[in-house]
Order: sequence, then C-alpha cells, then structure tokens
Amino acid sequence: MYKAFLIKYSEIGLKGKNKYLFENSLINQIKKSLENIGDFRVAKSQGRIYVECPDIYDYEETVAALKTVFGIAWICPVKIVESIDFEDIKQAVGEFIDNRYADKNFTFKVEAKREDKKYPLTSPQICAQIGAHLLNLYPDMKVDVHNPQVKLMVEVRSNTYIYSENIKGLGGMPVGSNGKAMLLLSGGIDSPVAGYMIAKRGVAIDAVYFHAPPYTSERAKQKVVDLAKLISKYTGPINLHVVNFTDIQLYIYEECPHDELTIIMRRYMMRIAESIAKETGALGLITGESIGQVASQTLESLAATNEVCTMPVYRPLIGFDKQEIVEISEKINTYETSILPYEDCCTIFVAKHPVTKPNIKKIANSEKRLSEKIDELVEEALNTKEVIKVK
Ligand code: ATP
Ligand code: MG
Repeated sequence: MYKAFLIKYSEIGLKGKNKYLFENSLINQIKKSLENIGDFRVAKSQGRIYVECPDIYDYEETVAALKTVFGIAWICPVKIVESIDFEDIKQAVGEFIDNRYADKNFTFKVEAKREDKKYPLTSPQICAQIGAHLLNLYPDMKVDVHNPQVKLMVEVRSNTYIYSENIKGLGGMPVGSNGKAMLLLSGGIDSPVAGYMIAKRGVAIDAVYFHAPPYTSERAKQKVVDLAKLISKYTGPINLHVVNFTDIQLYIYEECPHDELTIIMRRYMMRIAESIAKETGALGLITGESIGQVASQTLESLAATNEVCTMPVYRPLIGFDKQEIVEISEKINTYETSILPYEDCCTIFVAKHPVTKPNIKKIANSEKRLSEKIDELVEEALNTKEVIKVK
C-alpha cells in the first residue's frame, strides 16, 4: 500500500557543509542499496530524504535493503498526499487508517506539523480535528495521548505526509562520508565484525588477506572472499588484496626463534598492509584484535605489533568479549561462514608455546637475523598480489 518511505537520520553535529555532504552520501548509498530491486527514486525535499517506489515493488525486500544502509536512523513508510487542503487531508487519513489497520481496536494519538505557519489551522487544531474525524469514522479507536499504540504523524508541507510506523535503521554514518581504511581480513569471526563497525562510522573499506598456499587452501581463500562479499552488503564494494605470504613465513620460520614467530609474522602483515594502504589512499588499518583474546593480543603483543605501523590502527573490538563479537557477527550474517573450519596462515606455523609477553627490543633483534632477503620477499609479495573486486 505504501508508495514512498521517509528516511530519518540523526542530525546531531551536522551543520552547514557537513550536513550537505552527509545527505548526498546517504542518498548515494540508498540508491545503491535499491538499484538491484527496482526503479526507485531517491530525492531530497525540504531537508528530508524520500524514497519513492515504483508501481510494483516488494515491501519486505525494500525495507530489508534500507536496513543495510549506514546513516539511516528510522525508515518510515509514508503516504504522500499531493494536496494540503484540509478536507483532502481528512479523507486521506481516513483511508490510510483503513488500509493499514484492518482491526481498529487500538489507542492512538495524532501529531501534526505544518511548515507554513500561515496555514489556516494550527498544529494542535490539526491534531484535534483529525482525531475527532477518526473517532467518528472508526468508533473502535480510542485516544491515548500518553501511551498510544499508534502514533499517527500528519505533516503538512508542500504536500501532506501521513505515517504511523518507525522502523529502526542501522544508525551510523553513510559509507564514503569519512574516507577509507584498510581492513586486515582473515577468515575468522572478529575481523569481518571489525570492518563492519568502522564502516558504520562512514568509512569505506578495502581489505587485505594473507594466504600461504599450499599450506592454506583455495577454499580458505574463497571463505575470505565470501566474508568480504557478506560485509560489502553494508560497506559497499571492497577491493580485496590477496597477498601470498608463504615465502615470508617460511623465511621467518627458518631464521627466527619459534616462540616469536606469530609476533614477527604479525609485524610483517602490518607492514605490508600499511604499504598497500598508503598506495591506495587508505588512511588507517583495521584489525579484529581484542585485548587478551589470544597470546598475540596481550598488551605486550599488541604493543609489539603496533610498533611497526606509522598509520593509526583501528581496533574497534578491543574491549569486547568474544560472545559480544559473536552476537554482532550473527546479526550481520557472517558467523556461519566464519566458523567454517578452514586453516589460517597464522595457525599453520604457530609455536607450541608462543611468547605472551614479547619484549619489543628482543623482537626487533630477532628480526635483524633476517637479511635483505626479507625486503625482497616483501617486495615480491606486493608485486604479485591479486586484487579481487568484491561487491
Ligand atoms: P579473526 O577472528 O579476525 O581471525 P583472531 O581472533 O583469529 O581474529 P588473530 O589470528 O590473532 O586473531 O588475528 C588478529 C587480527 O589480525 C585479525 O582480526 C585480522 O584483522 C588480522 N589477521 C589475522 N590473520 C590474518 C590473515 N591471514 N589475513 C589478514 N589479516 C589477518
Ligand atoms: Mg584468525
């Protein structure tokens, strides 16, 4: 029955040019989310964003798509009446209630807004008269101004907008309104959630995945591509850089103390991720690390890993418990893919007893055992990386 949606966003902190950029990014993201499901028109009118639907469209599918767009606070299916004549409005409200609520046994309240303060009725008068009109039409309806089951909004602008439902959106900021960052995406539970959370703040995402063929399989890589695809529903297209890490790992394995392998490997991952980030205009790195989750995520280990980065490293899960991360991964539908049991390059060359309190000086010393061959291997890994465009 609805031919349009009113899109509400949180305007806190949005002023002047920021507001304009925010709205334009939001409109772009909404258009993208709907482009494969119909010929929708998305437009700004008097400081609000409306989605106008084609004659035939799937309501559920449309709402589901809008629920993947960061920046939307509320999605309100709305009836637009191309008139502000009060008799037309009364008639339209009557029809709206009849179409939307087969059973009229509910409490309600009318809230009205008028844009033109010269409109013949004040907002309270609009509320009172529409309320009386509805009580007259549908005797089962009852007014409750404090705790109504249905809050009917009537907004008189250049057209009249009637709605009674607020469907919660994702919140956050539209992707693309806040630059780009590089996600270190493994096949695990945490990193896809970390990417989702940073994208929620309006940041576009590219990703890097380190694989170690033949120790890690093609299926393990496909799993990461699948995860990137799942989060791209929210983040938009992702350039996934797949880096062959095998020779680097083998060389570290040969030269360095085995209890320090994971940390040294992680340091090389960060160095390589940062160099790809710089080359592609990303302004920070993102990881799925959380304090204390594993040996490589103690404060000492995080300090040792962080030390090689000059870019900010964003770790949105740093204070989360595993269960909290799992809940988000279920919500964004990455969990089932993340738990598929394929090997990760970090777990292949892992020591039985990795250091949990690495000393940065000692780690840096161990790295000195690597000759300039390591630079050549890094260079080679960068030159041979594969870029998969995921969307
Ligand atoms: P996740 O669930 O994200 O795999 P994890 O709990 O397994 O995390 P680690 O293996 O210590 O933790 O990895 C920490 C972070 O390092 C990951 O969240 C991810 O951002 C990055 N990372 C780990 N392995 C890889 C990889 N093979 N490719 C890209 N990034 C990786
Ligand atoms: Mg992992």
